[in-house]
Amino acid sequence: MLLSGCAVNPATGNRQFTALMSPGREAEDGAKENKEIAAAYGTKYEGTALQAYLNTVGHRVAGSAERQDVTYRFFVLDTPRVNAFALPGGYVYVTRGLLALANSEDELAGVLAHEIGHIAARHLAERYSQNVLASLGAAALAVSLGSTDASQAFGIGAGLMEVQYSRDQETEADRLGVRYLARAGYNPLAMAHFLRDMDRYEKLESRASGTGDPGLSDFFSTHPQTSDRVARATAEAAAYPAVKAEEADIYLRQIDGLLYGDGIEQGLVRGNRFYHPALDVTFAAPDGFTLVNNADKVIARGPDGTLMLFDGAANNNRHDAPTYLSKDWLTGEAGAPVEQMTVGGHPAASAAFDARVNGHEMKIRLVAVQWTPDRIFRFQIAMKRDAPAALVDDLKRATFSLRNLTDPEKHTIRPYSIGLVKAGPGDTVENFGGRMAIKDKAVERFGVLNGMGDQDALMSGRIYKVIEN
Ligand code: ZN
Repeated sequence: MLLSGCAVNPATGNRQFTALMSPGREAEDGAKENKEIAAAYGTKYEGTALQAYLNTVGHRVAGSAERQDVTYRFFVLDTPRVNAFALPGGYVYVTRGLLALANSEDELAGVLAHEIGHIAARHLAERYSQNVLASLGAAALAVSLGSTDASQAFGIGAGLMEVQYSRDQETEADRLGVRYLARAGYNPLAMAHFLRDMDRYEKLESRASGTGDPGLSDFFSTHPQTSDRVARATAEAAAYPAVKAEEADIYLRQIDGLLYGDGIEQGLVRGNRFYHPALDVTFAAPDGFTLVNNADKVIARGPDGTLMLFDGAANNNRHDAPTYLSKDWLTGEAGAPVEQMTVGGHPAASAAFDARVNGHEMKIRLVAVQWTPDRIFRFQIAMKRDAPAALVDDLKRATFSLRNLTDPEKHTIRPYSIGLVKAGPGDTVENFGGRMAIKDKAVERFGVLNGMGDQDALMSGRIYKVIEN
């Protein structure tokens, strides 16, 4: 009886219990979630040459997949995070952060092939749960601190793109991806190449400060280990005939001028300072804190689990700062005294209380700054109860650093983008690294962005990516 619900998957040859999610249901769910993704990340790349190029590469790969009962669709998401993922019904997403990291059409095809592998093997239908839907709909930060258990409010990490596959599913998607690459006439080794570059990039980013948080699934899945994935994808590729060398130039010309890092609408992290030119606001995190700019909030992480969250909120009732803090925000902490102050010339209010955050006893401090009559900027700070006085002072100073942008800042603070430079005889990794607008680990970043090993030298006549400002 049970077996009658199973069908042999043409991609994997495995029997699958597919009654869980019919292809019709997949298409329906995919379409619904695609709307949410579009709402969250915008549709900036729709109708662009880059989108058309992605479609061409994507359909070439998808054409070699066993599964043809879905309509494959490809999208570029406006986020600096390096990621790719698929939704049920044939929806495949790559971020502009991933596009900036790839170095050839074959590598891009490799990423798409992996995601198409998940679709073809129907991993999404197998894995799919209400949890995913719930996280898609959930606002990332709970507005109300309704109880002393503030872990909800600080429960960061619930993102849009965290579809969790099993280890076996990732391995299978890699294997199918290599197969589709080869069938489509791409270099079957390209997926291994990109995995290797991604691994280097992730390591670089985790050591660099203030350039984003690369650690999300799916393509970035850390299980199985990336080194294992590279080794396996390389071995898998050996089963297919070698093809012509990857053509870097065709791909690189497609991403010339592509945004790199945060865009202007997302606000920009420069060193330990956050700038949001569109909202005319900036603040500096304490030295040694790492700033990560998320779509809806900025997270500064300090020593000992110290967190400082910054976000904006609508103040529809046009309440003054103390009223906003006590009535609109701090609904469950009636007893906490509210202190009035001025931050960056704007009326503000703060309150402090103790709470449990992720199981730890923490000291919480909230600051609401009335930036305009109907816009509030907020800090939420969580630190250990026995945090040293110096750290407490640093955090206080950080909240008071909130201010409008100066005129020079308004003219000079702008997003980074990918530029292309041709190497001439005598050019070196060092001098090209020196042309990078991001000075932090510039030479290393140049090498990683261009898929170069530590020993690789520039080749005269070839085009390389640099980061421009
Ligand atoms: Zn995957």
